[in-house]
Amino acid sequence: MLSRMIWAKPSVPHQIILTEFAVPPIQLSAIFQLILYIQRVMLLSTDEQRYIQMALASSRHLYDQGHRLSWFSQASQLLDTLGISITDLPSGTHEYIRRFLYRGYLRRTWQGQLEVKPDYYRTHFLELDTAGLPVLPHYPTSGLSHGLRFLLGQFRVSSHQLAIETGRFQCTPREERICQLCSLAMVESEEHFLFTCPVYYEIRGRYHCLFRQTHVTLRSLISYEDPRCVALMLREMSLLRQDLCQAVQHTYPVTQSQITSFFSRRRSRSDVDMTDSDCDDIPRPRTQRRRTTQPQATMRVTRPTRPPRQRHTTYAHTHRRRQHVPALTDVTARITSFYSISTALTS
Ligand SMILES: [Zn+2]
Repeated sequence: MLSRMIWAKPSVPHQIILTEFAVPPIQLSAIFQLILYIQRVMLLSTDEQRYIQMALASSRHLYDQGHRLSWFSQASQLLDTLGISITDLPSGTHEYIRRFLYRGYLRRTWQGQLEVKPDYYRTHFLELDTAGLPVLPHYPTSGLSHGLRFLLGQFRVSSHQLAIETGRFQCTPREERICQLCSLAMVESEEHFLFTCPVYYEIRGRYHCLFRQTHVTLRSLISYEDPRCVALMLREMSLLRQDLCQAVQHTYPVTQSQITSFFSRRRSRSDVDMTDSDCDDIPRPRTQRRRTTQPQATMRVTRPTRPPRQRHTTYAHTHRRRQHVPALTDVTARITSFYSISTALTS
């Protein structure tokens, strides 16, 4: 559920999400309750033969004999995950024990050889205080809107759409995840996106307060005192990148208007081939060119029935013939009557 705070992808390791919000895992709560239970049993009075002490002693006896399924053995294995011996439990206040366990968890989680994403997070964004506990960043509690909080959080946990991230799922080698929007032929990493890519030069200029320092690093930029300023810059850059990628790669779904314009272009081209195939050098009349670009021409192409011009022509022709038939009949009748009259006079 913590990943819903920034709507991160499921591929983000859980340890990054937990550390990002300074939340200990639920496993530590179980270990904390286990330690308190063992200490409470140990502190019970030994004057009486309590069943709970007898059960604990029996389980420990099985553990000493090598039985790995006893309760004492399983509790020992659980404590070993944090490097704690069951015979040397931490003592003190509850808060001290919680902090002791959390420090041990962080030490075991973030030290040594890590995978790519955790190692990147540790290098650029992991911040521990003097007590060895993670520092909660400003953006979750600074009153940002959901969109700005998502942007900033997703960028910190590598849940973005840059080529360095999307190339991991496409099994593309890291050196081939090149930025497609500029001519620098560099890997589209977070540093290239924020500092190097010339496509976002104007946006960086509008947020010059973020680049006042002489040596701006990714950590210092993302951890700026005003997270709203960083988030707004990220939003502008992300929107610009989305528009440019849509124009360059055509990876987005095609709309109905694009399909219609595509077929209208094909139809107009086929008309030219049928009528002016042998006269390509002759420029087409201006009216005809204008008609191919009009939306009415598109509707006429996509309509499955007969073209409207032909239907109108047939109707007009029929209508005209119906009008002319009585006129022709009248002329014939007049000629016939005139012929009969002239014949009568001559005879
Ligand atoms: Zn670039």
